[in-house]
Amino acid sequence: MRKETKAIHTPFRLPDAYGAISMPVYHTAAFEFANAEEMIESFSGRNGMPDYSRVTNPTVYHFEDQIKELTGAENVFALNSGMAAIANTLMAIAATGKNIVTSRHVFGNTFALINSTLKRFGVESRLIDLTDLDAVERAVDANTCCIYLEIITNPQLEVANLRELARIAHSADIPLIADTTAIPFTEFSAKSLGVDIEVVSTTKYLSGGATSVGGAIIDYGTCPGFGERIRFELMFNLGAYMTPHVAYMQSLGLETLTVRYNRQATSALTVAKALRTMPGVKSVNYTGLEDNPFHALSVEQFGPTAGAMLTIDLADRDACFLFLNNLKLFKRATNLFDNKSLAIHPASTIFVSFTPEERAKMDLYDTTIRLSIGLEDPNDLIADLKQALEK
Ligand SMILES: *Cc1c(COP(=O)(O)O)cnc(C)c1O
Repeated sequence: MRKETKAIHTPFRLPDAYGAISMPVYHTAAFEFANAEEMIESFSGRNGMPDYSRVTNPTVYHFEDQIKELTGAENVFALNSGMAAIANTLMAIAATGKNIVTSRHVFGNTFALINSTLKRFGVESRLIDLTDLDAVERAVDANTCCIYLEIITNPQLEVANLRELARIAHSADIPLIADTTAIPFTEFSAKSLGVDIEVVSTTKYLSGGATSVGGAIIDYGTCPGFGERIRFELMFNLGAYMTPHVAYMQSLGLETLTVRYNRQATSALTVAKALRTMPGVKSVNYTGLEDNPFHALSVEQFGPTAGAMLTIDLADRDACFLFLNNLKLFKRATNLFDNKSLAIHPASTIFVSFTPEERAKMDLYDTTIRLSIGLEDPNDLIADLKQALEK
């Protein structure tokens, strides 16, 4: 079966008592057992039967199984947000005295997780330009526990060479962890590029219409002990497992992911090209544009599409605000990859808690607007952008 079919026809683990076509929402905290022996089997994790919804639930299993079918991963864990997926992953890998080799170009909360929260537990962060492979090689030492990156950074739209970073990680016997939120796992194989663990904010493309917040850890089984530690330690002790109603919504979203994604990525390219000809636009940053410095690497790694996130630069912050305030169709909102198109000024919102100096180091400028292209007719989107830019 191909991906579109797999997403829709992932089998249930057990036949439904009433023949339900959609996976029912198992809104229950606990599950009963026929006898004490069966209970022991479940609690020791041998028979796959759910016992308590903080760690196991049939509706969540189904969402995890869909992702497993689509990625071929050994383990998939669904969590209650992208940040929960990232935090649980890093807490399974890092320890006091260890360091994480990563970049300044990561999602704001991920940056703060690594540089504030984990730092308090004695984990060091090494912020390296991940496109400079020599610098990465120099930064990795005996205490490095992983290389962590985003496949297309948000909002700088930088692409690192995953195969080369995987080579560096594997020669040091550590995993390469990639946040693949920017391009869905249905479009490319992170494993074949050497990624050991993928983390995804399923809030974005997967949920389908921004219905709910969720995250996934996709473990390819190449990092010894990682899957067991997540399943038997962190899922229990941190309690960030996805809830059944959210899993239901996210499963429905996943069924239409490929269709929506391809439409959004195609529209994003059309909009990016149109923006180049519009008044006041100093530059358009989108890895799908052929003259983008990361275009060739992006195509090689992720295939012909480049996602639905792009940025534009205007004259200054006032121009950005005037533009935002005049948008009629684009929603002034955070989030990415909703069915609806979205616009935001990252420097004054997502990254507001950072000082201007910190923002400068992260290449976040007052002149930048981030756009997420939705499912609307691209002609309507172009008309909206044009009228707001003309103001
Ligand atoms: C949104 C986002 C996250 C965080 O996900 P939540 O579901 O909001 O917790 C992490 N990484 C990237 C790249 C994101 O875009």
